[in-house]
Amino acid sequence: MKLYVEGEAGRAVCHRDGLVTTHFRYRDVPFDDGHGSAPDILVGVCDVCGDVLTIPPQSTPAIRAARERATVSLEAQLPALYLETLDLAAYRINPQLSTDFRKALLSYYLHGAAAEKEAGAGLLADWQAFRDSFPGAEKQSPRKRLSLKISPFLAGEMEMLMVATALNRTDLIKSLVGRIHREVVAPAKPRVLPALQRFAGAAA
Ligand SMILES: [Zn+2]
Repeated sequence: MKLYVEGEAGRAVCHRDGLVTTHFRYRDVPFDDGHGSAPDILVGVCDVCGDVLTIPPQSTPAIRAARERATVSLEAQLPALYLETLDLAAYRINPQLSTDFRKALLSYYLHGAAAEKEAGAGLLADWQAFRDSFPGAEKQSPRKRLSLKISPFLAGEMEMLMVATALNRTDLIKSLVGRIHREVVAPAKPRVLPALQRFAGAAA
């Protein structure tokens, strides 16, 4: 394979400038989701506009490592009924989905709750309604571990929701599960189902 060095010339197609010449330079490369970047990566840069156009194979592992370092690990101990609610919601969205979808579903609802005009509004009520529907669930079902890796951006939204709702992280997750129960599991015909099915298709 070819090993590229700084200053080397190449050619690539730029989304702005069409077929252009490039030079390999060290640049900070933004992650695909637009949040954060990998620092000082050798990439092919457009000679016209300066955008990063090519990423040589030798730079891929360093980008991946930076992406891994940037993820935030979350751990929570939840009564099993909460995890089963997530899994039942996933089953309703698509019976092929596995427990891997827990993270995507929680992230979807976390982002949705953070984006509301009044962030986190109604989450406490959703959690209370869930507990009222399943009295004793908090105490009786065995505790299970939920571990998630989320982006720094999503972790920031979670911190913001914790402040807005005055809930700790575990209780915030529980309240999101309460909302998922109300919107996805409980209704005879969930209004949110088509959007979630599209989301699951994109996340698969
Ligand atoms: Zn360009």
